[in-house]
Amino acid sequence: MIITRFAPSPSGYLHLGHAYSALLAYHTSQQQGGRFILRIEDIDIGRCRTEFDHAIREDLAWLGIHWQEPVRRQSEHLDDYAAGLERLTAMGLLYPCFCTRKEIIREAARANQAPHGPEGVLYPGTCRTRTDAERKQRIDASEPHALRLNMKQAVDLVAESLTWTDAEQGTIIADPLSFGDVILARKEAPTSYHLSVSLDDHLQGITHVIRGVDLFGSTHVHRLLQALLNLSTPTYHHHKLLNDEEGKRYAKRHKALTLRALRESGVTAEEIVQRVGLVDLMND
Ligand code: GLU
Repeated sequence: MIITRFAPSPSGYLHLGHAYSALLAYHTSQQQGGRFILRIEDIDIGRCRTEFDHAIREDLAWLGIHWQEPVRRQSEHLDDYAAGLERLTAMGLLYPCFCTRKEIIREAARANQAPHGPEGVLYPGTCRTRTDAERKQRIDASEPHALRLNMKQAVDLVAESLTWTDAEQGTIIADPLSFGDVILARKEAPTSYHLSVSLDDHLQGITHVIRGVDLFGSTHVHRLLQALLNLSTPTYHHHKLLNDEEGKRYAKRHKALTLRALRESGVTAEEIVQRVGLVDLMND
């Protein structure tokens, strides 16, 4: 059975771009007699607010979307992410990173080559070679640290070419190496987007991940984590992003185009479906 999900972060109100993604995931599941899951991705405690979580549910219900209860809120499942980190630690693939953002940029510039990966400046590996004694001493002194994946070692360990199936682009060969040593647990949160999303999609039995093409790149890393942690690999559909009249992508800064602002100005849920161009899908 097909299981899809919509996984917003409650750091703002939903806009038309979210409506497109949520409706596409919901109706894809409904058309095939499957299930739809809402997941609240609230590990970024500095930016996420309960008020937005409530607003998201209200807006989705208004759009006619129904989801299974209980809704998984990532902040309530930190144990699952800790278990994933423990497994990776036991495999010798994680190391503590004490660097600040400034230090990373400075170090990358000093090396006179600030190579960029898909997520910005590539981590220059400063903390990768620290001794166990230094790591222990700095951790014992409560120095804030993130946990990074030793990407080269991880890729070597998997030792096979990884692929995934993408609805629009076909078979994709995963290239996680180009991301460098990604962070799997942040200084401010005991997990990361890459880790929690990969574990949750597996734990919730998601068969089809439907999300914006802006997250296409992340799938290279998710596919590697699936191989390392023995998680299932869903089918992916990275859909186009909707643009406003000026051709700019909808974003949280478009206050007037939040679903609630549109609703308050008298726009109906049916009009939203028309506006995001999904009428055909809904009438199938
Ligand atoms: N929580 C992510 C976001 O709001 C989406 C995660 C995903 O669909 O994989 O951008």
